[in-house]
Amino acid sequence: MLIIQKYGGSSLKTPQRIKALAKRIVAFKRDNSLVIVVSALGDTTDELLNLASQISSQPPQRELDMLISTGEQLSSSLLAMAISSLGKKAVSLTGLQSGIITDNLHTKARILAINPQRINKLLRDGNIVVVAGFQGITSESEITTLGRGGSDLTAVALAVALKAKRCEVYTDVQGVYTADPKIVPRAKRLEKIEYEEMLELSSLGAEILQLRAVEMAGKNNIPIYVGSSFNPGRGTLIWKNT
Ligand code: ASP
Ligand code: MG
Repeated sequence: MLIIQKYGGSSLKTPQRIKALAKRIVAFKRDNSLVIVVSALGDTTDELLNLASQISSQPPQRELDMLISTGEQLSSSLLAMAISSLGKKAVSLTGLQSGIITDNLHTKARILAINPQRINKLLRDGNIVVVAGFQGITSESEITTLGRGGSDLTAVALAVALKAKRCEVYTDVQGVYTADPKIVPRAKRLEKIEYEEMLELSSLGAEILQLRAVEMAGKNNIPIYVGSSFNPGRGTLIWKNT
């Protein structure tokens, strides 16, 4: 079975966490084909934006994309190395190499198409494919990014393009709760939630999943499982009861 898994920045914050994540991914691999989508390490994207703001009060959007897309290139290569050192074949790919074509709206580009040939070939050859999330390429070979939290969108879009049965998003919370568990300790984890309700939560500012990712999943009926990267307990399934 083909599974798409996305890991957020907190799962990749330190070399130790990257190594632990590699072990976890290798355990998942068994008979499955795996495409792993990663965010930038920890708060890298914020740090890069902060750096840019110290250079210029109005940096060109194109240059911002050149800058912030590096975060995911860094994390994807390190994770592929960590997996390789465990004796499993792994290859990291940028947005360009993954065939993710976008429009030219820098820093909030939309995905227009995905050409999955290269990923499919690597999967057939037994590789774990590690895709740098959040980035794509225009038809003029310009690097774009997909808006904050855009690695979620990369994962869902790849699930659609590769016809995966489901998309798993691993983060620093256990799943979707009735309220923010960091603020409301009695908040309850939901076993399941439908796309519409999740869209509402995302538009109200719940930072669990990017709004556009939920939209795309709903449109294409791709179930998203949200779980914790650190804790094997149960998470939340976002789906549609049809
Ligand atoms: N690294 C990017 C961000 O911080 C994309 C992501 O994390 O999904 O927004
Ligand atoms: Mg995120």
